[in-house]
Amino acid sequence: AILFEQVEKSFGDLKVLQGVSGAVQPGEVVAVIGPSGCGKSTLLRCFNRLETINSGRLLVNGMDLSAPRLKMHQLRHLRSQVGMVFQQFNLFPHLSVLENLTLAPQKALGKSRPESIELAQTYLAKVGLAHKATAYPDQLSGGQKQRVAIARSLCMNPKIILFDEPTSALDPELVGEVLQVMQQLAEDGMTMIVVTHEMQFAREVAHRVLFLHQGQIEETGAAREVLTQPQSDRLRAFLSRMG
Ligand code: ATP
Ligand code: MG
Repeated sequence: AILFEQVEKSFGDLKVLQGVSGAVQPGEVVAVIGPSGCGKSTLLRCFNRLETINSGRLLVNGMDLSAPRLKMHQLRHLRSQVGMVFQQFNLFPHLSVLENLTLAPQKALGKSRPESIELAQTYLAKVGLAHKATAYPDQLSGGQKQRVAIARSLCMNPKIILFDEPTSALDPELVGEVLQVMQQLAEDGMTMIVVTHEMQFAREVAHRVLFLHQGQIEETGAAREVLTQPQSDRLRAFLSRMG
C-alpha cells in the first residue's frame, strides 16, 4: 500500500506538489490524470524515491519515505518492490531482450542465471513475446519494446508498478497491445498507478482516478463516476479537451 499525507515537493522556488494526500490499497489500479506540468510524474517519482519529498508523510509498503536520507539497502529494497515503466521504455540497447530481463534479478536480487532466465521466459510469454528473447531492442516495434519493459519490471516480482504515460510515445496502432497487457496485470491483482491520457483505459480498468491541478488533488473518486460525472469545472474542462 501507499499512504501519502500533505506531500510537498518543490524544485527551487517552484512548488510542484502542494499538499497531496491519499492512499493506494493493494490490488488497486489508480489512474493519475491532469494537464501538462501539474505534477503527475513528480508524484509518481516520489513513490519510488526518484524524488525526495520536502515535507509531509509518505509510506510505501511500510517503508517511510519521509526521511531525508535512506540507507542503500533500504533504497534497493524499495526499488525491488516498486517497479516503474516509463514513456521511453529505457531498455538497454546493447543487450538482448533476454539479457535486459535477467540483469536486475541477478544483480539486485542475487538470483542465479538459470533462475533469472526462467523468470524472464515466463514473463516474456505473459506479454506475448516469448519468440523475441534473442532480439535486440532496435529490432522491436514500440509496442513490443514497452511490453518488454513491463516484463522486465515483472521479473523483479514487484508489489507495485508505476506507469508514467506508458503509451504516449507509441504509434496509435500500437497502443492497444500495451494497454491489453496492463489490463491483464490489473486483472491479476497487481497494484498499479498509471499516469495516462487514455481515458477509456482509465474508465474501464482503473478503480480510482486522481485528477491533479497545479500540484493539488482537484478531484478524486471511483473511476466511472469521476470520469462520467465530474464535479469540478476544471476536470470537466480537462475531460472535454481530451475528447
Ligand atoms: P507532463 O504531462 O507534461 O508529463 P507532469 O504533470 O508529469 O507533466 P511534472 O513532470 O511532474 O509534470 O512537472 C511538474 C513541474 O515541475 C513542471 O513545471 C516541471 O517543469 C517541473 N519539474 C519537474 N522536474 C523538475 C526538475 N528535476 N527540476 C526542475 N523542475 C522540474
Ligand atoms: Mg509527466
